[in-house]
Amino acid sequence: MNTHRVGSSAPAPAPDAASTEPNGLVTGPDAQGSGGQSDAMMSSPNASALGPDALTLGPNAAMLGPTAATPGTDPAMLGPNAPTPGPDAATPGPNALTLSSDALELDSDALTLGLDVGGTTIKGEIADGSGTILASGAVPTPRGEAAFEAMADLGDSLLAELPADRRGRLGRAAVLLPGLVDTARSIAVFSGNIGWRDVHIGDRFTRRWGVPVLIEHDVAVAGWAEWRFGAGRDHGDVVVIILGTGVSGTLAVGGKLVRSAFGQAGEYGHIPVRPTDGLPCPCGNVGCVETLASAAAIARNYTRLSGRRVDSAARVFARVPDDPDAVRAVDDAVAALADGLLGIIHATCPELVVLGGGLAGAGAALSEPLQAALARRLRVVPAPRVVLGEFGARAGLAGALLLARHGALA
Ligand SMILES: [Zn+2]
Repeated sequence: MNTHRVGSSAPAPAPDAASTEPNGLVTGPDAQGSGGQSDAMMSSPNASALGPDALTLGPNAAMLGPTAATPGTDPAMLGPNAPTPGPDAATPGPNALTLSSDALELDSDALTLGLDVGGTTIKGEIADGSGTILASGAVPTPRGEAAFEAMADLGDSLLAELPADRRGRLGRAAVLLPGLVDTARSIAVFSGNIGWRDVHIGDRFTRRWGVPVLIEHDVAVAGWAEWRFGAGRDHGDVVVIILGTGVSGTLAVGGKLVRSAFGQAGEYGHIPVRPTDGLPCPCGNVGCVETLASAAAIARNYTRLSGRRVDSAARVFARVPDDPDAVRAVDDAVAALADGLLGIIHATCPELVVLGGGLAGAGAALSEPLQAALARRLRVVPAPRVVLGEFGARAGLAGALLLARHGALA
């Protein structure tokens, strides 16, 4: 039994949390807490069918319990022919949808179950109200829809580890999925890495575990956790970049997590920064941030510059500052990140840029050059502070437990 804690000191709700209406329609890279894989790049045609949040209930819909009808499940509301959001779409929905995160938070004696589904491993934990981990485990991720049975089995086995008198105290669960996720309709829309498409999750987990189960997108939750409970806590305007296999993250503006009507907010990795002379990106564009700044891109760039193969970005960072090709590869990654952030910084003027995910393990070797690169580029708005995430590659799983406890990404 592990004893480390997650998020044991919950900060006050973000400003305006009560009026937040999470749209829950989340898509994006497969991060496993370490940055996006390229699932989103291989978006299914259904991506465009994800309707505006004004037409749906967000994650709150899953709060209604095992037997409640889930609003927003009418496919006609969200089908490919869903109407284009009108001028009213950006306004908050009916009052019934704008539940306060306080109202959703579980009692302190309730337990939570969190699962983080990655391309190779499904990790799960059960925590109590203080954040103490009571059970933890991991299983390999089967390909295709079989992965969902493995998720349910892992949850079962973690619950079985609890003493019988504590098992009944499970209050809620959260399952984080990669790729495209339609949380309002509880559909795993697409994962190129794991190989599923349009898997209706429905109440399969709720029937197994006997509690409401939130379905969310892994990077959205990892970024939210870093913002609200990690390095970005107590700040309302924060860019979180989850760096790893890919590059993506979250954006908080004025104390609200930006989700967008289409759930695609935070695809930083696909901002083109070298559109004329850059490398082709699997998304179809040229010179995206990800072609230079993802973990794989840093290793690939080093190999191209030096002629020497390396199997990870960590090995490139380890060769700084003695190896000029390693210095160049890191410089290229930092420059791409800085260039990609310029538009976001001018538009939203964030206080902090939080570097999370696996690559953030590079520490000051990444954060300090990025801080300097931003300072050199910015003339009009102040340079945000660049800080390292506090959850590291564990942001997804920690975030799953926090989401289960708090009930919404607010
Ligand atoms: Zn791209």
